[in-house]
Amino acid sequence: MFDIESVRSDFPILGIQANGRPLVYLDNAATMQMPLPVQQTMQYHYEQVNANVHRGTHYLSHESTKAYEEAREAVASFLHAPSTRNVVFSAGTTGAINMVALGLRDYVGPGDVVVSTVLEHHSNFVPWQQLCLECGAQFKVVGIDQNGNLNLDELRAAVCGGAKVVACTCCSNVLGTVTPIREVVSIAHQAGALCLLDAAQGIRHGVLDVQALDCDFLAFSGHKLGAPTGIGVLYGKMSALELLKPAWFGGEMVDIVTTERTTWEELPLRLEPGTPNYAGAIGLGAALEYLEFVGRKEAAEYEDELVAYAVKSLSHIDGMNVYGNPEHRSGCVSFNIDGVHPFDLCTLIDKMGVALRSGNACAQPLLNALGCTAVARLSPAFYNSFEEIDAAVSAISRGAQILRK
Ligand code: PMP
Repeated sequence: MFDIESVRSDFPILGIQANGRPLVYLDNAATMQMPLPVQQTMQYHYEQVNANVHRGTHYLSHESTKAYEEAREAVASFLHAPSTRNVVFSAGTTGAINMVALGLRDYVGPGDVVVSTVLEHHSNFVPWQQLCLECGAQFKVVGIDQNGNLNLDELRAAVCGGAKVVACTCCSNVLGTVTPIREVVSIAHQAGALCLLDAAQGIRHGVLDVQALDCDFLAFSGHKLGAPTGIGVLYGKMSALELLKPAWFGGEMVDIVTTERTTWEELPLRLEPGTPNYAGAIGLGAALEYLEFVGRKEAAEYEDELVAYAVKSLSHIDGMNVYGNPEHRSGCVSFNIDGVHPFDLCTLIDKMGVALRSGNACAQPLLNALGCTAVARLSPAFYNSFEEIDAAVSAISRGAQILRK
């Protein structure tokens, strides 16, 4: 059984007042709160260990490097990657995807096909669109059905005749659609394409095994699972990482530098130029450990129950339009209420202590497909309770009544 009270005690921020009301934090698809063990790990690192990594020969540098590389081991084990060499630290999902899109600038050429989907966050859309514009490649966007499920027939048609890359989210940050990533990877591979999975949302909503999935790349951000901001991961198969031409240059990524040329360090350091965010990586290692401690599968199942409960409760509100009805919805639900702008609604319920996201959720192509320009989004994490969903739904209902007057 999932012990929510014990979990909540690890997140003191959940006990604060917002605008004089008990905080109901339901914006976890944007950022999840950080549990105390992660804060304590980082505090300890700065107090007792801190030094630059992979550089000095002194005691602290060794200790700091050890902690940084242990965090890489934690990520490799969390993803079930074959080795730590498959794990590149980045600034986040955006950083990881850009590393791949820029890294493939000699791999994708005129007339080639790169495929993404309408479900994507801008982070897994714009880098591919821009790559195609620069390389003269064709950018194809796969659509969804009326329930918000990814249209696999469209994907098959898009890659028919060959494609270089298929970039797909594991879970939509607007509709909560969990995509059939095994099939997506298999369709991409049959067409000879590399497949990148955006796991920014998916990482907390289930167990991702990169070897079983057989994806070529997978990206995620630490702050979506209780780690600090500014740290993320690019997982890659060795053969796929080897294709990447470094996009950023600087210290530590190099082997020999002369006035004429430079040779590169082995992977993964080749793709980590400059001083890395080692403190963030160490925090990420602690966050993954915390998630294992809580129970990844149990946490994901509980979150799914919260989302399903929210969808049901919201649907009783007058004028409610919940977007999508996907086969599997995880992590969030987005909606609009007739005659009420989501920005006004979220601003008003914030005064009641309820934190939701409003706006385009960095997914303008998807919102265009849904026929709107902004949504309100409710996204629970495993530390939220059913009572908090009730409180949010009642605030939304009251807010809508006030705004309609
Ligand atoms: N992809 C998805 C599905 C996301 O939800 C987000 C964050 N909202 C991102 C990518 C980008 O993550 P970050 O801003 O941490 O780089």
